[in-house]
Amino acid sequence: MLISGKELANEVKDQVRERVEKLKETYGREPHLVLILVGDDPASRTYVAGKYNDANSVGFRVTRLHLSAATTEKDLLALIDRLNGDLTTDAILVQLPLPDHINEQKIINSINPHKDVDGFHPENIAALWQRREGYVPCTPRGIIRMLDWKGIEIDGKHAVVVGRGNIVGLPVSKLLLDRNATVTLTHSRTPDLGSLTRQADILIVAAGSIGLIHGDMIKPGAIVIDVGINRNPETGKLCGDVIFEECEKVAGMITPVPGGVGPMTKACLLENTVECFIDNENRNRNSSMMTI
Ligand code: NDP
Repeated sequence: MLISGKELANEVKDQVRERVEKLKETYGREPHLVLILVGDDPASRTYVAGKYNDANSVGFRVTRLHLSAATTEKDLLALIDRLNGDLTTDAILVQLPLPDHINEQKIINSINPHKDVDGFHPENIAALWQRREGYVPCTPRGIIRMLDWKGIEIDGKHAVVVGRGNIVGLPVSKLLLDRNATVTLTHSRTPDLGSLTRQADILIVAAGSIGLIHGDMIKPGAIVIDVGINRNPETGKLCGDVIFEECEKVAGMITPVPGGVGPMTKACLLENTVECFIDNENRNRNSSMMTI
């Protein structure tokens, strides 16, 4: 049984498109997302192009800024500072990774947390862990949406997460905990990974390690969410961390790569942008009332 993130992402896009029409009537403008790409990394170019097309397709205003790889940290910080202060910029996304000479954390920290559509700013991360309102990173949000869409019970289940990265593993573990799963978080130093993955009712793999999860590492009937994006060196095709052909025979449900988590990450970016827009509009109104 496949969990098609692509199908759900199309539903989400339709909902966002309808919402944008109503927002335009209420606020007189559409949400504005600014995408910043520094350098020419081919994977990053593809990701930004995908985000740009999706955002355009739902009726957002989208500004794509492509800066040269030689852009200095100071110039990038100055650009973000200008966008932070621009009343009509609702959401700012800086595509990662950045060139080595730019301190990535410094850039993330410089984005106004209200415009941090990726949910990577420390203030949004703290909000997630303290159960306060904030922006949830798009991939973990998309994973939970897919589980809910398929009617998969999370409460009381044992979820095993492979990978403790800031973008996927850690935040998705927190979201699962909030839904009363018992969570085992594993990483590259975990001995005997299979002994843990075999206990999982829900297995989420976000390691970026091709061929990591074999069929015999899965409990029969388990839900398998493959977040990894790798390129098979032999075929050149995209693949996940899970050996799909082996695992689909054992799993109850499984996400494909491509067509699983990836499209939902982009769909949740659209939802986060709408939330940034409403937040920005409310803040702009409040500050103009204070000025009066
Ligand atoms: P990180 O590099 O931040 O984290 C990778 C994690 O995997 C680390 O915690 C690492 O352990 C762990 N790990 C690596 N190898 C193994 C192993 N052999 N056994 C167990 N754990 C291992 O990566 P991200 O979280 O940013 O991304 C993970 C993957 O998800 C990547 O393939 C990325 O491309 C993909 N991704 C996909 C998205 C989508 O939309 N589909 C969105 C974002 C990411 P340790 O901490 O010990 O080093």
